[in-house]
Amino acid sequence: MDFAFDARTQELRAKLLTFMEQYVYPAETTAHEQRLLLKSPWDTPAVVEELKAEARSQGLWNLFLPDAEHGAGLTNLQYAPLAEITGRSPHLAPTALNCAAPDTGNMEVLAQFGSDEQKKRWLEPLLAGEIRSAFAMTEPEVASSDATNIETRIAREGDEYVVTGRKWYISGAMNPDCRIFIVMGKTDPDNEDVRRQQSMVLVPRDTPGVEIRRAMQVYGYEDHSHGGHAEVVFHGARVPAENLVGEEGGGFAIAQARLGPGRIHHCMRLIGMAERAIELMCRRAVARTAFGRPIAQQGVVQEWIADARVAVEQLRLLVLKTAWLMDTVGNRGAHTEIQAIKIATPRTVLDIIDRAVQTHGAGGVSQDFPLAELWAAARTLRIADGPDEVHQRSLARRELKKYL
Ligand SMILES: Cc1cc2nc3c(=O)[nH]c(=O)nc-3n(C[C@H](O)[C@H](O)[C@H](O)COP(=O)(O)OP(=O)(O)OC[C@H]3O[C@@H](n4cnc5c(N)ncnc54)[C@H](O)[C@@H]3O)c2cc1C
Repeated sequence: MDFAFDARTQELRAKLLTFMEQYVYPAETTAHEQRLLLKSPWDTPAVVEELKAEARSQGLWNLFLPDAEHGAGLTNLQYAPLAEITGRSPHLAPTALNCAAPDTGNMEVLAQFGSDEQKKRWLEPLLAGEIRSAFAMTEPEVASSDATNIETRIAREGDEYVVTGRKWYISGAMNPDCRIFIVMGKTDPDNEDVRRQQSMVLVPRDTPGVEIRRAMQVYGYEDHSHGGHAEVVFHGARVPAENLVGEEGGGFAIAQARLGPGRIHHCMRLIGMAERAIELMCRRAVARTAFGRPIAQQGVVQEWIADARVAVEQLRLLVLKTAWLMDTVGNRGAHTEIQAIKIATPRTVLDIIDRAVQTHGAGGVSQDFPLAELWAAARTLRIADGPDEVHQRSLARRELKKYL
């Protein structure tokens, strides 16, 4: 295993680090201020479009997509250090580079399973950053970490599919630029094979019968920068049969394929979030004095900083090993490692951000530092894309199999 940056990665890293300093960090405050003046809080602030244009002109665009025909053609190992850098400003930088979830996973699905017509109509504008998209799987009425529970009905009627069901926490769907939903539902609920009951269809936002009911909050945040997380109801929304993605009964397998890269991308960005938290923690600790000495001289704070550094270095190595495995033996071969990082990274990074919050006192929970928002974002990643316990169960089973 060799994790040294190759020439292409080094060049892109250098460019991206400069882009973050020159454009992204200054835009954090601007985006916040502009949003307060928008007609709808779900619209995209002008500064985000400016960032996108600048990133694209610098070649910092679609870096996530390993497919060289549509994306930058980077391996996971090349992309990992770049995604980490964008994680330092997780609400702006990934969007600026057209590398934000859920669009990334949706573009991967369309690139891999979409028909030529679907690619032309939806993938091309997504790759160009002209529209956004959502992935609608989770339902409030059923335990959705088990995808076989999904109840939304996708019924074939003549040359159409009729979609009926209720979804929630559909990321990005509040943003009016989100024009297309990939919806998971059941086309064959009676199939004996519970993993062949599901299909995915493309439902344009403006289809009659699609109701964007409300924005779901995250610890009281609306999560505007992410495009919100919507409750969406499909009241018998009709789409042409050619909107099926892949084949009927193939929805479960597509969902599995979508999640592998999505999970490692989250972990890469989480490491960047941890690095930002450590930097803020250190800056604050050296700048404030309590009881006659800088907070940085308190043994307990030094212990937090040291433990955070050790933990981040461990996590990064595991994420790089996982990226390397995905590149060399494929996503299936890296299954255990993908689960391991999805278990270890959010909870460890959450702990690091929490120490950084503590080091800041009241400022840590305020809107004047990004820490509270980072904490809320990291906390959701112990649930989204598979709760910790689901990964632990599956990883443990694979481990135990060796001894049965
Ligand atoms: C901010 C955010 C954004 C999201 N974005 C999207 C999106 O864009 N699209 C989308 O479709 N969904 C999205 N989700 C939903 C997310 O994927 C689901 O919340 C997740 O899959 C869990 O499903 P659930 O909420 O129904 O929890 P449930 O399935 O009800 O599980 C609840 C809890 O039960 C426990 N549990 C479940 N299974 C097991 C097990 N096998 N062993 C032990 N314990 C278990 C776990 O502790 C789990 O957290 C998002 C969620 C959040 C918070």
